[in-house]
Order: sequence, then structure tokens, then C-alpha cells
Amino acid sequence: MATGRGRQLSLGRIAGIPVYISPTWFLVAALITAWGHDTVLRQLPELSDVEAYGLAFLFAVLLYASVFVHELGHALTALRLGLPVRGVTLHFLGGHTEIERDAPTPGRDLVVSAAGPALSLALGGLGLLAYQVVDDGVPGFLVWMLTVANLLVGVFNVLPGLPLDGGHMLRAAVWRITGDEHRGTVVAARSGQVLAGLVLLMPFALDGARPDLLTIVWAGLVAALLWSGASQALAVGRMRARLPRLDTRTLARRAAPVAADLPVSEALRQAREANVTSLVIVDSAGRPTGLVKEAAVAAIPEQRRPWVAIGQSARSLQQGMVLALDVTGEALLKAMRDTPASEYLVVDAQGRVYGVLVSSDVDHALAAR
Ligand SMILES: [Zn+2]
Repeated sequence: MATGRGRQLSLGRIAGIPVYISPTWFLVAALITAWGHDTVLRQLPELSDVEAYGLAFLFAVLLYASVFVHELGHALTALRLGLPVRGVTLHFLGGHTEIERDAPTPGRDLVVSAAGPALSLALGGLGLLAYQVVDDGVPGFLVWMLTVANLLVGVFNVLPGLPLDGGHMLRAAVWRITGDEHRGTVVAARSGQVLAGLVLLMPFALDGARPDLLTIVWAGLVAALLWSGASQALAVGRMRARLPRLDTRTLARRAAPVAADLPVSEALRQAREANVTSLVIVDSAGRPTGLVKEAAVAAIPEQRRPWVAIGQSARSLQQGMVLALDVTGEALLKAMRDTPASEYLVVDAQGRVYGVLVSSDVDHALAAR
């Protein structure tokens, strides 16, 4: 459940890890405060209204502190296992730890995913013990709130469906058993979608025919977030499964070298003759300097083509627009993300022009079933 970094407030760094909070938290805190007021007064009838609101708000803060400790469990475990952590974000419903790359083995994935809920449940367990010894009244109520907060965070996250930790654990387990990472993702993402449906029905299962509106809205929000997280995981998983198809050597179109001052009509004739669909601009020494943009050529009317130099329809080569022949899969996508372009020059190991990789060809290879 990652969100963009755009509308997040920075809370500083802990153990070198940047911590962010989403402004939606204030909305959730307000809801919990409004909602919790009555519960507080039921437990502690001697409190004033203001004190009850104060304690309810404190619960919202403690809940997020518990989420934060939970996320730290993931982050520190990941660091321990040598996986770089980009940051921890606290948002609307919980938290998210951004780890630089996926754990490369199901075992590591399982440990990193389990570390958060394990910490939450352990703190919840400690809280239960502490609750036996502290006094009733406000101290007891505070311990009780912390206990409930940690148990809520622990139990919710261990539910076995993506995007929750339990989903990551399920994915790792299926991956370990079948040896198929993709199957693990599909099983855990589908399970996440089922969970979303169950959460939606939950208020009706708990309260019979007449659950209150706030509970329904809340369950709806949680279900929507679960559903979108699970569906996104499914889409990413499917895309990953297609990555082996991304092979620069097979996707590249063969290209003909042309001089920049050649008329468009003549350049196209040479391309037809060489039986290629792409053109690379070369200087007098034969070094590639630019790529002819197919769309720009197509936009030149037929009768103008003998009078326009092909160089005018080219984009000059920039760093990052030259790809080696052996770049494949994830590395190819990353190179394209780093330097977005409609065409890339592909060169062989000796630096000679091999061909042109057209971005839309890569998109088609990814989209094909
Ligand atoms: Zn977690």
C-alpha cells in the first residue's frame, strides 16, 4: 500500500531510515477520537468529556506508535539481512516499509515479512501481562489501549493475503514449496482479494442486520484498500512473469545507418532496400549520433520527403539511450525508466550498431498474453 512521496510529511530519521507520515493520519486520528470518546467514558465514567476525548486521541497516537514499531521490525530485519531500506511511511491505515529490492529468496522474504507482526504480537502479549499488575483507572486503561493497539496491528497484518504481511508470508511459503515465485504471488494476491470481500461483510456478520454506518464505512475503506493492494500485486506479478520475454536481442529492429543530410525519401528507399524498418544517423566516420523517430518521419507529407533532410526527424543520442545487446528483463525496464525515450540504439559488444529498440515493441511484449 505505497503512496507517492508527494504529500507526506517527514518525521526525520531513525537508525538512518527516513520516516514519513501521510496527512491522512490526522483524519484517522480525528475519527478515532470522535469514535473512542464513548468507549472511554464507558470504562472510566468519572472522567470529564474533555479528558475522554484526550484519552481517545492518545489511543490514536499510541496506535500509530505501535504501527511504527511494527514497521521498524521490518526495516531493521531487512537491514540486518543486507537489504537496503528506502524509508518507512505511516499512512491512513497503517504503515509501509519500502525495501530497495525484493528479498531474493523465499526464506529472507518470509523473515522480513514476519518480523513486523511478530514484534506487534510480542508487545501485545507483554501488555496483557502488564495489565495484570498495574492499577485500575487511567494507568490500567493506558496499558490496555497499548495492548489492544499492538494486538490489532499484529493480528490484522498477519491475515494471509497481499498486500498484508501475512500475504507476503503466504507468497514466500508457496514460492518455497513449489519453487515458483509467480505462483506464490498469484495465490497470495487472490487470497488478498478474498480477504477484501470478507472485510466488507464483517460488519454484517458481527452486528447482524443492523451494523452502524461508521462501521460499514470503515470496513468499506479497509476492503477497498485491501482490494486495490491485492489487485496491484497481481498485476505486478503477471508483469514480472513476462519479464524473461524482454530480450533486447530479439526485440531490437535491425537498422540502416544514414547520413543526417540525406533526403527523407532517399533514406526510406535505402531502408527498404536493406529490408530494415529503423534508421540510425551516423557521422562521416560512421559513428552513431542520432535516432530517426518513426512518428516524425510519418508526419512528413509524401511530396515533401525529397526536400527534407532525414536529420530533422532524428533525436540526437544522449547518455542512457544506448543499450547493450545483452540487457534483458528487469535491467532493460530500469534502463528505459531512467532515460525515457521512444527509441533506443542497440550496440553489440564492440560498440557497433546492431539495431533500434522501439519502446512500443517492449510494451507490446509485456502486454501480450
Ligand atoms: Zn507489516
